[in-house]
Amino acid sequence: MLSIENLVAAVEEKTILKGLNLDVKPGEVHAIMGPNGAGKSTLGNVLAGREGYEATDGKVNFAGKDLFELEPEERAAEGLFLAFQYPVEIPGVSNLEFLKASMDAINKYHGRPELDSVSFMKLAREACKAVDLDQSFLKRGVNEGFSGGEKKRNEIMQMMLLQPKLCILDETDSGLDIDALQVVAKGVNELRSPERSFVVVTHYQRLLDYIVPDYVHVLADGKIVKSGGKELALELEEKGYSWLEQNEVA
Ligand code: ADP
Ligand code: MG
Ligand code: MG
Repeated sequence: MLSIENLVAAVEEKTILKGLNLDVKPGEVHAIMGPNGAGKSTLGNVLAGREGYEATDGKVNFAGKDLFELEPEERAAEGLFLAFQYPVEIPGVSNLEFLKASMDAINKYHGRPELDSVSFMKLAREACKAVDLDQSFLKRGVNEGFSGGEKKRNEIMQMMLLQPKLCILDETDSGLDIDALQVVAKGVNELRSPERSFVVVTHYQRLLDYIVPDYVHVLADGKIVKSGGKELALELEEKGYSWLEQNEVA
């Protein structure tokens, strides 16, 4: 699904990712933890092809294709979905218009017919319900005036409609109360399947009680410095990150 080899990437000419390796197979859920400023969000942004984030070395294969050969829109159409740490607001474009345009673009890319509006509305209403958002959110501007929790639910709703192959969730749990956290986790768990993979970036072990990962990685100073199973998250919660840096030196 995703194979990252020796990825080096820079933001504003400053090297942030310094030789990162990660291998995600279909159906797997990988959690990435690590100190502030380690490069976790940068990784997501580089993979999504966000402007200003430049890969300077390394290889990334996504679903059998060279990721860097694809434009950001093509990456999305191939099934890469990034849920941002800070979801963007698009005032004046309704959630419905945005979702329909996104789905139409993906169908067009794959040479499939456009979804008719009745079927689309049915799917949109179901997705809204699944994340506990009132139907009125479909008519509002994308994320416009949404609370933190509503933005995160909205992203899960987008995921449900777009059915991506690989979902990268960047601190989807930050700022969520326990109810919203459970709604988000439930949405993710419903989307888990043998064909779909997740990379979940989080600061807190708590999310991983609800979204149980197959692997946990620690990203520190632009590299994966330790990998393990779900129990690694508990160890990190207890000991923090500094012991890892000491181990590295030793
Ligand atoms: P994390 O998500 O692990 O907390 P980030 O990937 O957001 O870390 O940031 C890693 C480093 O890259 C930080 O030093 C941050 O200041 C820098 N950085 C990230 N994005 C930008 C940007 N758009 N402009 C300048 N510096 C950035
Ligand atoms: Mg951070
Ligand atoms: Mg971040």
